[in-house]
Amino acid sequence: MSSLIIRNALTRNTGNDLVEIKIVDGKINEISTKVSDKVDEEIDAKGMLVTESFVNGHLHLDKVYTLDRAGQKAIEEYNNGGMSNALSSIASAAEFKSEYDEKWIIKNVRKALDLAVKFGNTHIRAFADVDTKAKLEGVKALLKAKEEYKDKVTLEVVAFPQDGVAREQGAYELVEEALKIGADVVGGIPWIEFTREDEQDHVDKMCELARKYNKDISMLCDDVGDAEERTFEMLIKKVIDMGWFGRATGQHCRAMMLYPENQFRKLCALLKRAKMGVISDPHTGPLHARVQDLIKEGIPVGLGQDDINDAYYTFGQNNMLEVAFLGAHLLRMVSDKDIELLYDMVTTMAAKVLNMKGHEMVTGGNADLVVLNCKDVKQAIWYHEEPVYVIKNGVIIK
Ligand SMILES: [Zn+2]
Repeated sequence: MSSLIIRNALTRNTGNDLVEIKIVDGKINEISTKVSDKVDEEIDAKGMLVTESFVNGHLHLDKVYTLDRAGQKAIEEYNNGGMSNALSSIASAAEFKSEYDEKWIIKNVRKALDLAVKFGNTHIRAFADVDTKAKLEGVKALLKAKEEYKDKVTLEVVAFPQDGVAREQGAYELVEEALKIGADVVGGIPWIEFTREDEQDHVDKMCELARKYNKDISMLCDDVGDAEERTFEMLIKKVIDMGWFGRATGQHCRAMMLYPENQFRKLCALLKRAKMGVISDPHTGPLHARVQDLIKEGIPVGLGQDDINDAYYTFGQNNMLEVAFLGAHLLRMVSDKDIELLYDMVTTMAAKVLNMKGHEMVTGGNADLVVLNCKDVKQAIWYHEEPVYVIKNGVIIK
C-alpha cells in the first residue's frame, strides 16, 4: 500500500475552496476539505490548480525530430494550397524511410517522452509507420519505449500503414505482424488509396484485423483538402456493422470542413450510433474537423500534438497546454466556456475518445494528476507552463 496526499489544492469544481486529495495505491481515495489520515507522502499544492494529467490523442512518435532527414519539400507541399497537395507531400515524406532504424528512432522517441513527462502528458496514442520501407522499425522502437516509460507515460502503439494498403503491397502483412509483436491499436489512412473501391477495401481489411486481434481502431480519415472524400463515413459504417461501438476513432477528418451541411449532419448521426469520437490537430494543417459543432452534437473530441519537428510540422514539445493554446486561436475558442471545453479536450474528453477508463479526478478515479503553477484553466492555457508536479499511478514522476 502506498499513499499520498495533495494538500491545499484548487480543483475545477470546488470553487475557491481548498481541498485535500488522498491517493491510495494509484487510485483517488478521497477528495475533501480535510483528510486526517497519516500517509506516506505529502505534496503542498500551495493553493494552485490540480487536475487530471494530459492526454495526447494523436502523435506520430516514430517521426519526431526527423524534419532534417525528410527535408523541406514535404512540409512545403503539405501546408500550401489548402492541403490539396497532401498526397504528394506524403510521398515526399516517405523518401527517407528506407533509412528507418530502431536504433536512431528510439533516441528521438526518448527525447519526446522526456518532454511528455515534463509537461504532464501521461497518455499518448502513438502512431508508427508500417510499410515496406519503414518495415517494423518504428513499431519496434515504440514498443521498446512503451516498456521503458511504462511507469510514466502510457503508450498505445498504433500500427499505421501510412503509405496505404492497396497501394503498398506487403503493408497488410506488416500491420498483422506488428499486432503479433504487441501493437495495441489498428491504424489506417484509407483516403490515400487511388480509387473508392481501394479505400473501402483498406477500411474493411484493417477493421477485420482489429476484429481478429480484438483491438481498437484509429484511422486518419480525409486528411486532405477534398470535399468529396468520404472515408470517415466508410469507417463509421464498418464500425457499426462490426458492433465495435466505442472502440474506434477518426483522426484529423479535415475534409469535414468542406462538406455540405447535409453531409455533415448525416455524419454526426452515424458517429453517435457508432459511439465514436474524433481527435483533431488544428495546428498541423490549414483545415480541421468541425470541433465545436461536433461537441454541440454530443460527440466527444480530443486534441493531439500530431507531430514534433517532422515533415508535416516544424515545432511541438509534447505540451498539451500549448496544443490547447494554439487550438484556442485556430478554432476561435476564447470564451470562458470554450476554454473549459478546450481543457476537457486535452484531459477527460480526450480520454473518452480513446476509450480510456477512470481518467477522472473523482473518488475511485486513476491518480494520474498534475499540480499546476496557476489557479484556473484560463491561466493554464494562457501561459502553458509545465506543471509543478506530475503524478502517474499515484507516484510523483516529476
Ligand atoms: Zn497525423
